[in-house]
Amino acid sequence: MTTPDEAPAFDIVIVGAGFGGLCALHKCRQLGKRAAVFEAAPDVGGTWYWNSYPGARCDVESLGYNFSFDADLKREYQSKWPERFSAQPVILEYARHVADRYALRTDIRFKTRVTRAIWAEDRRFWIVETDRGDQITARFLVSAVGCLSSAQVPSLEGIDTFEGSWHHTGNWPKDGVNFETKHVLLIGTGSTGVQAAPIIAESAARLTVLQRTPHYAAPARNYALTRENLEREIQRVANFYAARYPADGDPPISWHGMNTVMTFDDPPESRQRRFEQLWERGGAGFFLAYKDTMTDLKANNEVSEFVRTMIRFAVKDPATAAKLLPTYPIGTKRMIAETNYYEMYNRPNVYLEDIRSDPIERVTAHGIRLKSGHEIEADILVFATGYDALTGSILRLNIEGVGGLPLMSAWEAGPRTLLGLAVHGFPNFFMITGPQSPSVLSNVIYSIEQHVDWLGELFQFLDARGFDRVEASLSAQDHWVSYCASLANQTLYQHTDSWYMGANIPGKPRTFLPFVGGNVLYKRRLDEVRDENYTRFALSSSTVDSSARAS
Ligand code: FAD
Repeated sequence: MTTPDEAPAFDIVIVGAGFGGLCALHKCRQLGKRAAVFEAAPDVGGTWYWNSYPGARCDVESLGYNFSFDADLKREYQSKWPERFSAQPVILEYARHVADRYALRTDIRFKTRVTRAIWAEDRRFWIVETDRGDQITARFLVSAVGCLSSAQVPSLEGIDTFEGSWHHTGNWPKDGVNFETKHVLLIGTGSTGVQAAPIIAESAARLTVLQRTPHYAAPARNYALTRENLEREIQRVANFYAARYPADGDPPISWHGMNTVMTFDDPPESRQRRFEQLWERGGAGFFLAYKDTMTDLKANNEVSEFVRTMIRFAVKDPATAAKLLPTYPIGTKRMIAETNYYEMYNRPNVYLEDIRSDPIERVTAHGIRLKSGHEIEADILVFATGYDALTGSILRLNIEGVGGLPLMSAWEAGPRTLLGLAVHGFPNFFMITGPQSPSVLSNVIYSIEQHVDWLGELFQFLDARGFDRVEASLSAQDHWVSYCASLANQTLYQHTDSWYMGANIPGKPRTFLPFVGGNVLYKRRLDEVRDENYTRFALSSSTVDSSARAS
């Protein structure tokens, strides 16, 4: 390929128009940058555009799951959240509101997928290719492709022979799916399966859930936000975040929750009371009951056992209840917030199959055949089988860095980043909520804003000094990778095959993907790098002969 000679067409190309892309574009506008966004979908919203499956809902509270970059936006929208935990259409509507309020759509090219990005070292810019045949040049490339945006459909023999319809929750048909009078097979019991199943069960003639691993789910206890409770709720959520993200003092470590008490320092009756209170309060944060829940297996088992008891209590048929009991340490796979999930199994039209002991052999014309020969008929298959988390969509950008090195090769043994934001060998490339940043272990909108703010400051610094090339130094990256691993090693996360570990994708390197220390500790690290004038990056200018290389 020949490199276009002229100056890059854009300062920044952003890939993705979910909350990350919208936030990044808004920041670029504020900084006076020429930015272009490419989005595969026909609309904004990302996750909340694609995941329109029945029951899709956020498990971070609505009053906290929104942008804070504009106090007017935050305040004006507060009275618009109908429920404690927002449903997908409500969040999508919010994303559309943000896009329209700041007139962002004019810089977004929809229905356009970025298929390749090549670093042109001689010109110091990126050449970005799309599935529409575009070749766009930009000084910087920002990935806002999302941490849970590559839907994972298992490769099942015979799927092309199935005579019914099948859908993945992460790419749900926009005109919906009619389950009435239908026999439905739902595969997967992670967050999406647990959200979708009870709603599908209400209209389907029969729902069979195929479960490989039983998960822990705590009641969401969703409720309406009303004129009467709104002020109180705003205050409660504000207090929660003030405690969670304190400006001063020791940073709270995320796996402690906000707890200072160790499990066995609390007497058994008091422990039981605490679990019951948290269960009553509702939400996926239930499992962080004590400071050592995520570091001590025995302590963890206290919480796990409480949930198992509640499952036995909710599900009437003891054989079904037994199949639903999770055995891994609670929290080491994504904790689920549920509504009517366990009770759903008391319905006469709902069945549970354990496909760990009797795996799927193949899809047939009329359903699924298990290894035992047992056939389950279905009109509709629903794959709630998750995502190629954190790295999937980034790698699908087919990025080639210095010397044509594919990112796929640089990350052959797992992602290596500096701060989860940048990669050595890939200058002027940044990732919003990339691997080795808090991402999926946080309120993701909060993490997006952390990254966009940090990038905004970096761009201003580069402009002020005349730098046009910025690359993570290898030593700083190596240090970050081992720092992330050393934090993760202090927890129980390592011991479970989860998508946090890449274990749900055949052939994916097994490494703990997010930064586990929480947003406050992470922010300290971001600030340090900024305050040291970005010396952990190699900075240089094609016009000014000054460079500040880190070791
Ligand atoms: P996304 O919303 O994933 O947007 C990325 C966009 O990039 C997509 O629109 C995609 O089409 C586009 N894209 C990707 N690759 C390309 C390409 N090559 N070319 C062009 N466009 C591309 N987070 C929470 O904090 N709390 C929750 O409760 C929560 N619940 C969730 C429930 C589900 C079912 C899912 C899937 C995720 C959930 N998340 C939750 C995480 C959620 O992804 C984030 O909160 C947030 O929406 C991410 O925004 P984003 O812009 O970074 O990525």
